[in-house]
Amino acid sequence: MNVLILGSGGREHALAWKLAQSPRLTKLFAAPGNPGIAAHATCVDLNIADHRAVVDFCRREHIGFVVIGPEKPLVDGLADNLRACRIGVFGPGKVAAQLEGSKGFTKDLCARETIPTAHYERVHALDGARAVVGEFGLPVVIKADGLAAGKGVTIATTAAEADAALVALFDGHGGEAVIEEFLQGEEASLFVLSDGTHLLPFGSAQDHKRVGEGDTGPNTGGMGAYSPARVLTPELEARAIDEIVRPTIAAMARIGHPFQGVLYAGLMLTAEGPKLIEYNARFGDPECEVLMPRLESDLLDLLIATDDGTLGTRTATWRDDTALTVVMAARGYPGTPEARGAIAGIDAAEAAGGIVFQAGTAGAGDALVASGGRVLAVTALGQDVAAAQAAAYAAVDAIDFPTGFCRRDIGWRAVARERG
Ligand code: ATP
Repeated sequence: MNVLILGSGGREHALAWKLAQSPRLTKLFAAPGNPGIAAHATCVDLNIADHRAVVDFCRREHIGFVVIGPEKPLVDGLADNLRACRIGVFGPGKVAAQLEGSKGFTKDLCARETIPTAHYERVHALDGARAVVGEFGLPVVIKADGLAAGKGVTIATTAAEADAALVALFDGHGGEAVIEEFLQGEEASLFVLSDGTHLLPFGSAQDHKRVGEGDTGPNTGGMGAYSPARVLTPELEARAIDEIVRPTIAAMARIGHPFQGVLYAGLMLTAEGPKLIEYNARFGDPECEVLMPRLESDLLDLLIATDDGTLGTRTATWRDDTALTVVMAARGYPGTPEARGAIAGIDAAEAAGGIVFQAGTAGAGDALVASGGRVLAVTALGQDVAAAQAAAYAAVDAIDFPTGFCRRDIGWRAVARERG
């Protein structure tokens, strides 16, 4: 089968790397892809916001299946348009993608289904929002309603911070926000494939969102991750599936918008049990870079099963090892990253045992240069988190990227726990 993967990040490189191993694959295309993805796929210049153009490309190249990496095309309804043209696709339709696209939609669904999550209130104007913040007390969590690439959330510990966040959100014109109770605990991510009816648990991970060591400084798209998340014990995972994911999948089917794809549940492991922080309707980045190296099963076969309703007949097998990835970013990130810094040593990093997934990279003649904030996700496997961490940093140290930086402590909490 010919397959088209959409996206250009480390997540899509990890998916392409794994798809390329599938016995069901004939030819892999990527749009737009990146130089790393180009090792596994033919990269094509296609405007993925133009759904008609995507469909035409699929017809021309006899694409049987499209793998949508990022959230934007999902929220825009690309999966619906492909399904309407009888082209197989991995990813939910527009309404089901609202689980990621609208925090209000998800919170209302949680309330109806009594899914454990933070208490919340939806607000539509500044005065009302101020009153609600007053009722919740501090700290309080303030979230913009729509997609904000991780930048729409403020955890306010003072009244002044809360007020500044509200003023920025409503800023003269209306808007929609969610005010939430602050949950205490450790965060973990759980991935579950679904064909709309059946569920297949698909691994867990923990990530590091802050740019600085010790989890300090501004938020980023993610500076590193590891899988599995041992804090999410089999008992807690079973609870999260039974109390959170399964009722969500059932509710989406009941309203006529079955969720087909990967449901990524961001969980807070509280003293009362797992509670939902947020859903994403696609794989995480960099979480995907630690899931794919651990997956033994045929990824393409499983993704197709989410589309054709046969997931109930599938299982997934995983390596026992831990995978850990370190993101190398361009100086300046998460502000304006320094562009066009030279990158060398990827072969040496892979010879040292790493798997280097590329994100913001571009070709410059025969050389490779940085072209984005997050540039590489350097991944390695090990018997435990400490071993995976040592292997990943050995690979990082083989890379020559003078205008780049990375955190040196990815996995620190899990390593400390392993040491007891
Ligand atoms: P992203 O998709 O990038 O994770 P987002 O904009 O969808 O971000 P959330 O995931 O809802 O936003 O929140 C971002 C982060 O804020 C969470 O990962 C968590 O650390 C923190 N957070 C969110 N809600 C709460 C809450 N109710 N209590 C405590 N912390 C929270």
